[in-house]
Amino acid sequence: MERLKQKILAEGTVLSDTVLKVDAFLNHQIDPELMEDIGKEFGKRFADDGITKILTLESSGIAPAVMTGLVLQTPVIFARKRKSLTLTDHLYSASVYSFTKEETNEISISQSFISSEDTVLIVDDFLANGQAVFGLIDILEQAKATIAGIGIVIEKGFQNGGEAIRKAGYRVESLATIAELSEGNVAFKEEN
Ligand code: 5GP
Repeated sequence: MERLKQKILAEGTVLSDTVLKVDAFLNHQIDPELMEDIGKEFGKRFADDGITKILTLESSGIAPAVMTGLVLQTPVIFARKRKSLTLTDHLYSASVYSFTKEETNEISISQSFISSEDTVLIVDDFLANGQAVFGLIDILEQAKATIAGIGIVIEKGFQNGGEAIRKAGYRVESLATIAELSEGNVAFKEEN
């Protein structure tokens, strides 16, 4: 997605050979027009998949997921990373090791929002080693929901998550795939 790539080049910061900071438009300050385009793009790619719900992880997945839900006209659920006083229902939970925070979180959703009747699109901001996506897949398997695919805003193609998830048989659609982060520069893979 060309607009996203241009935004990454203009406003992203390469923190190391493995970490890209996008606080200027996705992870802290949010660019609503870019999010709208992202929602339209995921909406187009998954238009014929019978999606009934979108599942993401708080907090950075919420903005692209909501815009996708607006386009596909489906509810959006975000898995919570901390037990909340209001999250008192029966839960589906999974353990996720966070690449950026270097800690393990128990992520949970209420069982009342996803069932075996649902066809779910997973949306997240980044794909690195795949821990977050595999945690969301685990939750959807517990719910016996159908997984239509995974929509990723930025995939880091030099880490192994994308390959592992595709090998497990899931469709992954990434809007920008980074081939390499080095010396402050971002190099994209050609295909998207
Ligand atoms: P994974 O679980 O695939 O290893 O990592 C994905 C999660 O870690 C995403 O939900 C995202 O929040 C975070 N993450 C991974 N790599 C990056 C990165 O380079 N930059 C930022 N800002 N977040 C990242």
